[in-house]
Amino acid sequence: MTGAPHDDDDTYEDWQRRARALALPTAHLIGGAPEPGGGATFTVVSPRDGRPLAEVAAGGEAEADAAVAAARRAFDRGPWPRLAPAERGRALQRLADLVEHHRDELALLISLEMGKPVTEARDIELRAVAATFRWYGELAGKLTDEAPHTPGDALALVTREPVGVVAAVVPWNFPLTMAAWKTAPALAAGCTVVLKPAEQSPLSALRLGALAAEAGLPDGVLNVLAGQGPEAGRALGRHPDVDALAFTGSTEVGRHFLRYAADSNLKRVWLELGGKSPNIVLPDAPDLERAAATAAWGIFFNQGEMCTAPSRLLVHRAVADRVVDAVVERARTLRIGDPLDPATEMGPLVTAAHRERVLGHIAAAHRDGARLRAGGEAALPGTGGPYLRPTVFDRVGPQMRLAREEVFGPVLAVQVFDTPEEAVRIANDSVYGLAAGLWTADLSTAHRMSRALRAGTVWVNCYEEGGLEVPFGGVRQSGHGRDKSAHALDKYTDLKTTWIRL
Ligand code: NAP
Ligand code: MG
Repeated sequence: MTGAPHDDDDTYEDWQRRARALALPTAHLIGGAPEPGGGATFTVVSPRDGRPLAEVAAGGEAEADAAVAAARRAFDRGPWPRLAPAERGRALQRLADLVEHHRDELALLISLEMGKPVTEARDIELRAVAATFRWYGELAGKLTDEAPHTPGDALALVTREPVGVVAAVVPWNFPLTMAAWKTAPALAAGCTVVLKPAEQSPLSALRLGALAAEAGLPDGVLNVLAGQGPEAGRALGRHPDVDALAFTGSTEVGRHFLRYAADSNLKRVWLELGGKSPNIVLPDAPDLERAAATAAWGIFFNQGEMCTAPSRLLVHRAVADRVVDAVVERARTLRIGDPLDPATEMGPLVTAAHRERVLGHIAAAHRDGARLRAGGEAALPGTGGPYLRPTVFDRVGPQMRLAREEVFGPVLAVQVFDTPEEAVRIANDSVYGLAAGLWTADLSTAHRMSRALRAGTVWVNCYEEGGLEVPFGGVRQSGHGRDKSAHALDKYTDLKTTWIRL
């Protein structure tokens, strides 16, 4: 299916019709062409209804070797790293145009494979993907190197060089946003890439690879290797000819990648990992209703499958009832349904196994003595999909699992505090440090608390805001390295010093 983006009045029937007409890519994309690989496949199941969608090529060591070899050839012998940077940038901007042109199709692939509402996939995720390729496309031709002041008989150049072959291993929750955040800066820097999507969401990534070829990226510059983590992902992690590996996913799998690097060629590994982000509401929040609405939106958006989800609501005792009641009300009225229905506000979780894990966290919260205020159980059993009711627990103690472990689902833990110092202490009592939210009208309080919070991003009087101009990433066990902004180029470039005696 092709065609320019449609209007906002697209109906449920329109999306269902488009879904039926959709062609699903099933082969790897290696060296600019579809490559079926050695014959092994895996089944992609749609969480909409639990039915199989496609049989996709399952890459192992042989396919990873082929993909890395194609990327190596494109880097060592191809034009890509030697092109005028602005010309690389133009290719990335053509890719941004194609992503925009195919926005409905890509949104449908994402919605079918991982279950987010198709209108959110189109209006939020695909907009971000196109913007990312465009932003780095525009940046490519605007970079300069350094020539430091030196003694009169010498000239020094400090130049940034592409690291070479980059492998990007990404999760399913924002399949194309994560892919774009890795590939766009790596490509802008002149690297070549092998992208490994999650087993749940290979379809959109394979289609993106084909669009990159159509945009004129030379063969082998962007390869897409489908397959399972312990095979395809591991093969890239251990590959002696991968120079840098950019990973987004769980903290547990992040540890594997550090081991793979240690056991192979010491490739640098960049990790964007999990979180348990606090969202602190002080009594002087400029608009408590908006604070509550944003707290609810933040934890339920994308089915709660968000690394930055504000999963710990820390609310001051004086306003706790008001804020929590509003969040609970939102949880009860949120419309769960088929992700292809434009009226749907929350789709299914990604897989039945993932819903089991989330239900395990809910059971533990009950056992630990937290109080259930909304949800807590499966929904829409007749559909065959792993739907779950938006869930809120209050009276969550600091040692409970729900206060400490990432759920990666629509489950909110509410904790009450009495002073800003106590709020910061609770907020920082975590192995993670990805993001934090803070609601206050007092400028000094905002700055003081923002400084004290250990997080890669602090949002004040908002949540999940900001564009490509700001870096994104974590501290502590949320990882290291930054996506977005010009800082992302640091991951994909090496500084070279050339000292010339005149
Ligand atoms: P995951 O299980 O860690 O998987 C991420 C990627 O790693 C997938 O491509 C996966 O492939 C691969 N993988 C899995 N096991 C592997 C292994 N043993 N060796 C090599 N590769 C392996 O994470 P997920 O379930 O897809 O996503 C959820 C997690 O991602 C959450 O923890 C969330 O917080 C995190 N996340 C973080 C950010 C961020 O920017 N900080 C953004 C989004 C998500 P398969 O799918 O084929 O197994
Ligand atoms: Mg996985």
